Amino acid sequence: MKKILSIALLMTGLLACKKSSTTSSSSNTDTTYNISALVSKFSGNVSAVVQGDYLVITSTDIPDHKSPYFKGTKWQDSLYTTDSVSTFAQNPNTIEAQSLTFRIPIHPSSASSKSATPLGPMGVSLNGVPFFNQYAAGRAALTYEKLSFDQYGGHPQQSGQYHYHVEPTSLTARHGEDAFLGLLLDGFPVYGPMENGMLVSESALDTYHGHTTKTAEFPNGIYHYHVTSSDPYINGSGFYGTPGTVSN
Ligand SMILES: [Zn+2]
Ligand SMILES: [Zn+2]
Repeated sequence: MKKILSIALLMTGLLACKKSSTTSSSSNTDTTYNISALVSKFSGNVSAVVQGDYLVITSTDIPDHKSPYFKGTKWQDSLYTTDSVSTFAQNPNTIEAQSLTFRIPIHPSSASSKSATPLGPMGVSLNGVPFFNQYAAGRAALTYEKLSFDQYGGHPQQSGQYHYHVEPTSLTARHGEDAFLGLLLDGFPVYGPMENGMLVSESALDTYHGHTTKTAEFPNGIYHYHVTSSDPYINGSGFYGTPGTVSN
């Protein structure tokens, strides 16, 4: 009887062992990341806190840099500038305060079924200004809309919501061309156009505009997107992970 019991215990142990090895091999193929340490990176008219399994980022979307789009607003005295790039064609909108709340998973993982990015905010940069995708209204290319980007790569839409479709050059000027610049809604980080001292080419990125390598913030490696100077600029054909939510 005693022998049978010990065999039963041994078998239970073997089963438990098998179970745990199955669990660890599946976590090897789909690493569970934790992005909660990134809360300290956000600054400006933005706050970031961890709430349960989400990083909750609230923003008034007033950029912490100058723009011609502050003309006639209550921020005109401190933030309005007439400086711009030579091809600049200002749109008729001006910057207005928003009330944006992003709920972003702190354990991002590859989605088994990928989803398209929305028109409107698809992520948030370090200063609280949202990232928009590579499309204008009607999912048209940004060919003409690009002319209305100010010298920092942003412009406001009809309701005054300022946003970046391309590299936020104020942030890369301050933090570096290879810096962490913000998050898409799926919790995967967005980095600048350079890595290891070299420009990242489109061909080095997958269809979602990212890849997995070590970064300054994630020395064990993480999937991340890169900003590039050509279309699609920030995200390719959709979120790599499962997106959280944004309300405005
Ligand atoms: Zn736009
Ligand atoms: Zn990279």
